[in-house]
Amino acid sequence: MDPDDYLMLSGIQHFAFCRRQWALIHIEQVWKENVLTFGGRQMHRNADDPFFTESRGDVLISRSVPLVSHALKIYGVADVVEYHRSDEGVMIPGREGRWTVVPVEYKAGRKKPDDRDEVQLCAQAICLEEMYRTRIERGYLYYGKTRRRVEVFFDDELRNRVAELVAGMYALYDAGITPPAVLLPHCKNCSLIELCMPAVSSRRRSVDRYLTACVGRDDA
Ligand code: SF4
Repeated sequence: MDPDDYLMLSGIQHFAFCRRQWALIHIEQVWKENVLTFGGRQMHRNADDPFFTESRGDVLISRSVPLVSHALKIYGVADVVEYHRSDEGVMIPGREGRWTVVPVEYKAGRKKPDDRDEVQLCAQAICLEEMYRTRIERGYLYYGKTRRRVEVFFDDELRNRVAELVAGMYALYDAGITPPAVLLPHCKNCSLIELCMPAVSSRRRSVDRYLTACVGRDDA
């Protein structure tokens, strides 16, 4: 596959949140902004300062780092990648010594009840591992609401979850399928709720099921 045709890494957070939301954005190219995504973009604007590298003692900080994984067939941008001086790390062009690679992702809100932020960060780590030919054990999610960093360990369970999600993204993308809406509590935080209309779609499916059952009984 041509790398230009790879799927966007950032889509994994949408896919983990709701497969329909991911399909609406990445297959049907629909996008709508709400206060949550706007807040997220403001946070990213602070982090997005291309080619900027800052040094704080034994830590180098690069922002807006381009990412790609040919194994997963995804590409994207990391908000921040930190390089911590360590004898066990890798060589970095233009810098002396060795450095361990640590991805950091900025989120506007607070920690989510699901794993969408963790899978996005882990996907970034997998890209960086491939790019630097190293192993990355941990990264951080920074939440703007609480102004705290949460450490995330990239264990096999999380890595497998990333691989499964990406495989699911490709399966839907290749088939061109947008899953039907299912009204769930998380829909109230979805930027696409007005376009998706999950309440209407769910009611319509219930009516369809009822009618199908009635027809089935008449036929019997
Ligand atoms: S409104 Fe609910 S079902 Fe529709 S895309 Fe958003 S989360 Fe998914």
